[in-house]
Amino acid sequence: MSEHHIPTAALHRWVNDLWLAAGSDAREARLTAHHLVGANLSGHDSHGVGMIPKYVLSWQADELQLNRNVSVLHDAGSMLSLDANRGMGQAVTEEAMALAIERARAHGVCVMGLRQSHHLGRVGHWAEQACAAGMISIHFVNVLSKPIVAPHGGSEARFGTNPFTVGVPVAGAPPLVLDFATSAIALGKVRVANNKGVDVPAGCLLDADGVPTTRPGVMFPGEGEAQGALQAFGGESGGHKGYALAVMCELLGAAVTGGHTIRPETLTHRHAVWNNMLAIVFDPERLGTSTSFGDEVQAFADWVRSSRLLPGNDGIALPGEPERQRRRERAETIPVDSGTLAQLDDAAARVQSVRGTSPGPLSRLAA
Ligand code: NAD
Repeated sequence: MSEHHIPTAALHRWVNDLWLAAGSDAREARLTAHHLVGANLSGHDSHGVGMIPKYVLSWQADELQLNRNVSVLHDAGSMLSLDANRGMGQAVTEEAMALAIERARAHGVCVMGLRQSHHLGRVGHWAEQACAAGMISIHFVNVLSKPIVAPHGGSEARFGTNPFTVGVPVAGAPPLVLDFATSAIALGKVRVANNKGVDVPAGCLLDADGVPTTRPGVMFPGEGEAQGALQAFGGESGGHKGYALAVMCELLGAAVTGGHTIRPETLTHRHAVWNNMLAIVFDPERLGTSTSFGDEVQAFADWVRSSRLLPGNDGIALPGEPERQRRRERAETIPVDSGTLAQLDDAAARVQSVRGTSPGPLSRLAA
C-alpha cells in the first residue's frame, strides 16, 4: 500500500477545520488537531489522525458529544473526581489535567479520577502537559471498547490495550515520558499494518483459535468470522507482567474513578472508544529533593548510555527520546498510508453529508 506525505501545517488545518465543520467550538477543534497531529508527529500514527474515521462514526451515532466540559463529581481538594460527560477526549482531558495541575500546585499532589471520556488519545500528551507545569504524573487508563487483549494464559480477548504512562520533568532538559499500551502493541499499530498490508512482529497476536500469528487481519475479521486477540506485552516469558499491569490499569483507571470496567454489560455502544483514567499528579519540588534530581538523572543517563551496544543498535535512548527524534524528522511533512487516507476522505464526506460543510477530501493535500 502506497504512502503519501502531507505538509504538517496543512494537516493540522484540515483536522481543525473538520471538527469546526462538525460543530466543535474553536478550542475543541484546535486541541483535537493539536493532539492528533501531535501523535503523528511523535511517531504514534496509531493514535494520530487515523483515529478520525472512528471518532466521526462515534459522533454520527450520538456517542461522542461535542463541546462538553468536565463536571466535578467529588472535590476533596487534593482528591478530585471528574466526569467527562462523553466529551471529546482531546478537550475534556486537557481541562481535567489543568485542574489536577492547579490542585497539585496548591496541595503538592492531586489524585484525579476522570470517567467517561471519549478516546483521550496518546496518554503521553497528558503527561507532557503535567511535565510542562513542572509536575510528575502517573496515569492508569482503561479502554471501554470491544475487548481485544487476551489475559495471560487465555485465548479469548477480555479487555483493551490499557495504557500506562509516567511523565517526569527534568530541570533544563526535556522530560522523560514512559507511555505505552499494556498489549504487545497498540491496536492502532495493528490497524496501520493492516492498512499497509504488512505483518506485525511475532509474539503480538493470536488468531481466533488461539494460535500465534503475525497477520494483522485477524483483528479485523469479515462478517461472521471470529476475531483474534492481542497478547499482553512481555513475550513468552514475561506476558504475565503486561497482563498484571493491564489489570491494575483496569481497576485503578475505571473501578476507582467510578467509570466502568469492561464487561458485556458495560459495552452498550457501537463506535465510541471510552476511556477512564486515574492520574496522580505531584510537584517534585515539594519533596525537597529537586535540586539533586537533574544531576541524578544526568548521571544515571550517562551510565546507562555507556553500556556496550548490541549489534544493529546505534545508541541507547531514554523514554521520551524516540518521540522527540520523530518530531524533528516529521516537522515538515507527515506520512499517511493510502488506506488511512481513503478512510479520512470518507470521514470528511460524512461530515459534509450531516452538516453541509467540510474541509473536503484530505487526499487533495497529499503528495
Ligand atoms: P510503544 O510500544 O511505541 O512504546 C512507547 C514508549 O516506549 C515511549 O515511552 C517511548 O519513549 C518508549 N520507547 C520506545 N522505544 C524506546 C527505546 N528504544 N528506548 C527507550 N524508550 C523507548 O507504544 P505503544 O504501546 O504502541 O503505545 C502507543 C501510544 O498509544 C501511547 O501513546 C499510548 O498512550 C497510546 N494508547 C492509548 C490508548 C487509549 O485508549 N487512549 C490505548 C492504548 C495505547
